[in-house]
Amino acid sequence: MDTKIQIKDRFFTPYISREEIAAAVSRVAAKMNEELAGTNPLFLCVLNGAFVFAADLFREITVDAEISFIRMKSYDGMKSTGEVKELYGLQQDITGRTVVVVEDIVDTGFTIQQLIQKLNEHNPKEIKVATLLFKPESLKCDIKPDYVALEIPPAFIVGYGLDYDELGRNLKDIYVVAED
Ligand code: IMP
Repeated sequence: MDTKIQIKDRFFTPYISREEIAAAVSRVAAKMNEELAGTNPLFLCVLNGAFVFAADLFREITVDAEISFIRMKSYDGMKSTGEVKELYGLQQDITGRTVVVVEDIVDTGFTIQQLIQKLNEHNPKEIKVATLLFKPESLKCDIKPDYVALEIPPAFIVGYGLDYDELGRNLKDIYVVAED
């Protein structure tokens, strides 16, 4: 794995390798294949951050399933803002359906909480949350992701779809911000 990298004004060090990520994605997909069999779930990938995870996860899904893409705005710099976010891009009728929200990371949980509220207005049968990363110590909402690939402590990370100021999404491994 590469050594320290710089993105804009920050340095980042290797944290989770592509092999560890792949193993974690397979693990969580196996659980989903067991539990979601027969539900014809609609996966909703939350752009931008979850697109890499969703692409890898979805190819590990062996039950009949559909995928589509939505967006919640906005997030800025290195801290979750906690502001009101809007849902964009929902094109399917999700009434009575099993929906699996695919997130890159659950940090404070505000984004996913608002997303669940908005999706519930469309009367789905159930909403499951799958996330690549979960920072349980940062959680400030009463939500619990159903499928977590990796739990991490509350440090800022980039790579594998996650960005620092829109950069770093293309890194194959996950990096953590280095102390100053
Ligand atoms: P939450 O609303 O605090 O749970 O934040 C969720 C969103 O914040 C994620 O979908 C990410 O876009 C962003 N985010 C939270 N922590 C990180 C991080 O460590 N690196 C990059 N983005 C993050």
